[in-house]
Amino acid sequence: MVPAGSHTLAGISCSITEGETTPPAPYTEGTLITDMASIAKYVKDPEIREILKRKDDGKKGEHGGIGTTATRSSIIEGLKTRGYLEERKGKVRATDKAKAFYALLPPEIRGADVTARWWLIQQDIADGKADVNALQDSVIEVFNHHRETAYVGASIAGTGKTVVGKCPRCGKDVIKTGSIYACSSIKNEKQEDGTWKEVAGCGFKLFGFCTKKFTEKQAASLLDGKAVSLRGCKSKAGKTFDCTVVLQKDGSVEPIFTPRKPTKKGRR
Ligand SMILES: [Zn+2]
Repeated sequence: MVPAGSHTLAGISCSITEGETTPPAPYTEGTLITDMASIAKYVKDPEIREILKRKDDGKKGEHGGIGTTATRSSIIEGLKTRGYLEERKGKVRATDKAKAFYALLPPEIRGADVTARWWLIQQDIADGKADVNALQDSVIEVFNHHRETAYVGASIAGTGKTVVGKCPRCGKDVIKTGSIYACSSIKNEKQEDGTWKEVAGCGFKLFGFCTKKFTEKQAASLLDGKAVSLRGCKSKAGKTFDCTVVLQKDGSVEPIFTPRKPTKKGRR
């Protein structure tokens, strides 16, 4: 045992080697397919990593992967066809569209976690512990959970988006996103805590008026500076009314109330 007190260690020498880290080598289709068979090594959560590895127990060349040997090439082909991967000089790279899409995806869907979770459900079905519809239900649940909020205001270049008009604030295209309309200058990024943050853009969104959502035609008219009549609007007090609205230059929707038709002119 070393006695208490101060001691000096001799014989240790340190040196600093300066250099720059090199980015990982780009994939070829071959190395990408190989890596897809062992993506567990990129999974941080130890539990998920173990599940992924367990999934491939006893399978040759498989160490916690996504897809199967039969499907990986066609997955890559599909990603190329849709413009998410491109091959140049034998190297496979993610496109800007792929990177933008990745940034928009909820973290839950981005990683391999759902693959692991869904595999567990498949095991439960095989063991008779879960209903045959359990997997389908889980898939629908995961996507439904994100449907309303995930892509509001998001736009990815090169995808089929519906342009309804020009933004009153910045002049860029206003596109239909779900049941609302938003300026294409807006960029949202999903944060690690699962919330969305608007990271760029003018912020213009056209939601509707008094619980009424606008149709594409109404949105286009408003953006064109025209007045739009709405029927069956509901006030906060629950009263139903009809009105006409216009879009202000700042992007807000304002009602125009036409004066009531005079009833019987009273004369004194
Ligand atoms: Zn705008």
